[in-house]
Amino acid sequence: MNHQSLGYKGNKQSLPVKQCVVCERPMSWRKKWAQNWDEVKYCSDACRKLTKHRETQ
Ligand SMILES: [Zn+2]
Repeated sequence: MNHQSLGYKGNKQSLPVKQCVVCERPMSWRKKWAQNWDEVKYCSDACRKLTKHRETQ
């Protein structure tokens, strides 16, 4: 046992996760995002519409 094994879970749940920029909830990789995962910022259309009020950042 070494310390590097801590925090690494060698299971199947290694799909990428990112945070929605609006609601800040973690969202798991989805197959429909396979082509544009880097561009995905919102967990849903609802959040994507909400961001229009926050575009000042
Ligand atoms: Zn969201």
